[in-house]
Amino acid sequence: MKLSTRCVHGSDKCFDTTGAVSVPIFQSATFTHPGVEQSTGYDYSRLQNPTREYLEHVIANLEEGTDAMAFSSGMAAEATLMELFSSGDHVIASDDLYGGSVRLFQHISAKNGIDVTLTDTGDIDSLRQMIRPQTKAIFVETPTNPMMQVTDIAAVAKITRAKGLLLIVDNTFLTPYLQRPLTLGADIVVHSGTKYLGGHNDTLAGFLVVSDESLSQRLRFIYKTTGACLSPFDSWLIIRGIKTLAIRMQQQETSARLIAQWLREQQKIRNVYYCGFDDHPGYAISKKQSAGFGAMISFEVDNAQTAKFLLESVKLISFAESLGGVETLLTYPYLQTHADVPEDQRTAKGITNKLLRLSVGIEDTDDLIADLSTALES
Ligand SMILES: *Cc1c(COP(=O)(O)O)cnc(C)c1O
Repeated sequence: MKLSTRCVHGSDKCFDTTGAVSVPIFQSATFTHPGVEQSTGYDYSRLQNPTREYLEHVIANLEEGTDAMAFSSGMAAEATLMELFSSGDHVIASDDLYGGSVRLFQHISAKNGIDVTLTDTGDIDSLRQMIRPQTKAIFVETPTNPMMQVTDIAAVAKITRAKGLLLIVDNTFLTPYLQRPLTLGADIVVHSGTKYLGGHNDTLAGFLVVSDESLSQRLRFIYKTTGACLSPFDSWLIIRGIKTLAIRMQQQETSARLIAQWLREQQKIRNVYYCGFDDHPGYAISKKQSAGFGAMISFEVDNAQTAKFLLESVKLISFAESLGGVETLLTYPYLQTHADVPEDQRTAKGITNKLLRLSVGIEDTDDLIADLSTALES
């Protein structure tokens, strides 16, 4: 079955005898046992819940993995992931990451004795040189947030396979509709389901997806022990969101391409970072490993005043953090998503007070351009 069909019918789990087309919400914390040492397969909702399990099957199916775990947020998924490592371990990660991931690595992981080195994972040779005897994993976000840098997943997988390291890919920006890292050699896929998967800016969720049985068992043990699981109702909202993932991504991507092109022609706009430009440094790799370029655009305006003005003047577009939903959002990474990243690191990456990030929604493209145009001119 094609991916857009699997978005709608992605789980073969059926818990219902009434014929309900929508999966039921099993709002139950616990489950009765038929007898001693017997179980229906459901004991307690931190471990298993039928609605959440249905969602996990859909995600595993879309990512071509064997197991997916649904978390209460993307950060909950990442915090659980980092429990795979112990004091003394070393992890290499992209140096342009979601700000919350940087905060997790530099504060929580560091406190736990896990050393995380941030580097440009797109530079394969320097990446290879950073590997130490203690290195356990490489964590890649591609394209990166917010600078849209692209890493060749298969090329990194070659290194991690040869050295026995885990390759972890944050696939939030492209979703399995456009990129499936497990099929390119990644061991673990991370998602903020809050973004495109949920798609409606109404629910927080996160995922870890694997295709290896022993990795699945290790993560499931941490999952049931630390307990950051997704609630039945929120699982249902994400199931509903995913049903329209394919058509949303198509519309958002088409619109983003037109808006990126338009932005490039505006006088007050200096640089537009969008993977779909054929002069983008990651264009060829994107074409090779992804089925599309997504709907995220970052751009630099002429000065901080224009940035502030634009954020305060857009009407249809909301000035808000987050991304991937049906509503178009304009974000100021410098003060929002990346505020906790140390200043020197932000400047080095180009995350300045002139940089804005646009998550293109499903509104009509002309209306979005008109809103940006009016805001820029006024
Ligand atoms: C939002 C985001 C996260 C964190 O997810 P939450 O659901 O907000 O906890 C992680 N990675 C990326 C790329 C994100 O955009």
